[in-house]
Amino acid sequence: MPGPANFFDEVNQYFDQAAEFTDYPPGLLDQIRGCNSVYRFDFPLRRGDGRIEVLRAWRVEHSHHKMPVKGGIRFAPEVYEEEVMALAALMTYKCAVVDVPFGGAKGGIRLDGRQYSTEELERVTRRYTHELVKKDFIGPGIDVPAPDYGTGEREMSWIVDTYAALNPGQLDALGCVTGKPVTQGGVRGRKEATGRGLFYALREACAHSESMKRLGLSTGLEGKRVIVQGLGNVGYHAAKFCREGGAIIVGIAEREGAITRAQGLHEDEIVEHRRTTGSILNFPGATNLPTTAAALEMECDVLIPAALEGVFTAENAPKVKAKIVLEGANGPTTPAADPIFREKGILVIPDIYANAGGVTVSYFEWVKNLSHVRFGRMLKRHEMANELAMLQTIERATGKQFTNEERRQLAKGPDEQDLVNSGLEETMISAYHELLQTKEKNPGVQDLRIAAFLVAIHKVARSYIELGIFP
Ligand code: NAD
Repeated sequence: MPGPANFFDEVNQYFDQAAEFTDYPPGLLDQIRGCNSVYRFDFPLRRGDGRIEVLRAWRVEHSHHKMPVKGGIRFAPEVYEEEVMALAALMTYKCAVVDVPFGGAKGGIRLDGRQYSTEELERVTRRYTHELVKKDFIGPGIDVPAPDYGTGEREMSWIVDTYAALNPGQLDALGCVTGKPVTQGGVRGRKEATGRGLFYALREACAHSESMKRLGLSTGLEGKRVIVQGLGNVGYHAAKFCREGGAIIVGIAEREGAITRAQGLHEDEIVEHRRTTGSILNFPGATNLPTTAAALEMECDVLIPAALEGVFTAENAPKVKAKIVLEGANGPTTPAADPIFREKGILVIPDIYANAGGVTVSYFEWVKNLSHVRFGRMLKRHEMANELAMLQTIERATGKQFTNEERRQLAKGPDEQDLVNSGLEETMISAYHELLQTKEKNPGVQDLRIAAFLVAIHKVARSYIELGIFP
């Protein structure tokens, strides 16, 4: 997928459009817009066959108005500096939109993970972490990476192990990275958080009867036809939660091609088919599309780009037939495509809000690591006892008995997963309403993206104004 010429410029175009609705001095806007630190470095890797290969890598810290800064690490063959800068900037705005108290950051290593063995990837990840430690670009109070495109729980384990080895005895070392496996200090629900957050965002949008009426759609998620591009962490979980929420997954696009099926596809069956055949194509009962890109132009209600940036351009945007574009990926809609979507009346639920579930639950994981106790551990039995007492009061008052199954359902007390999901749901719902209200209060703001940028600019600006300038 070709990335945009300069993704960072594109993010700034959105920023500038939103900044028009503020009267902050230009210098303050410059301070918010720019990247505070851009660290580019090269390091050698000894390949399995003895060859030495030099890899190029980055860590960008966009804004230090809140510490630590936070953002994922991307492994991709085409990563470039302005891309990492753009992604770091989006992290700042995203954290502000969902009230996560971090500045934005992002990391990248230019490599195609599929061309390297597990041992090689481990050496790459550990060396990258060591380079960050040397320059003070990682630490629970400094800069906290997470998974992004091409990385996951496995890489986060290697990072925390390397960081802990280099900082023996540091009590909060587990908080140096999020997206870890639960057995290594991760939090339940982080892996699926971005996809779950996308589902909450879509459910909220579909519950808004005024918007649905304008789009000619019924209220609610039930029966909405969804197409997902990218069946990785974000796309897989978005498909799963949307399907479980009543939507029908009518199309899935991956690198090798796209498939459609009007009656619906089940993400687990497609993943299994891909695992055994090496491709999502030729899935029994589904139709292959001529190209991956064709999936983006198919008839559907909701289109979820969940692969990479720069997917919608001036060329293909006019052909998009979806009513709602739910941005799972960061930066899928270029500024050239954006006004075309607006003219077509497409509801775009923007990345800096829609995919913020990941960083929200990463924040919960970081809080868990600093507090050194699992969420729910202190509360569960206490809540259970309260709930049981309530059930017994109802039984006495009504003379009826709950069944054992009802009792189990109604008096279970919250565990970690329940609390994480509840915190995520609350975050996504309240942030959506903040965007709607901002749009209403600023009549010139025509879409949710500019509303989201405006919300973010106000919050970051306030922080900078209150902090003042050192020295
Ligand atoms: P991932 O590596 O798990 O999955 C990406 C998937 O996209 C892979 O299956 C890949 O094969 C597929 N893909 C690549 N090129 C494609 C193409 N041309 N057409 C269709 N599919 C293609 O990555 P991820 O973590 O799911 O991230 C996806 C996007 O979501 C990125 O933009 C990332 O920045 C963003 N995001 C991720 C998270 C997170 O928590 N992981 C959070 C917020 C945003």
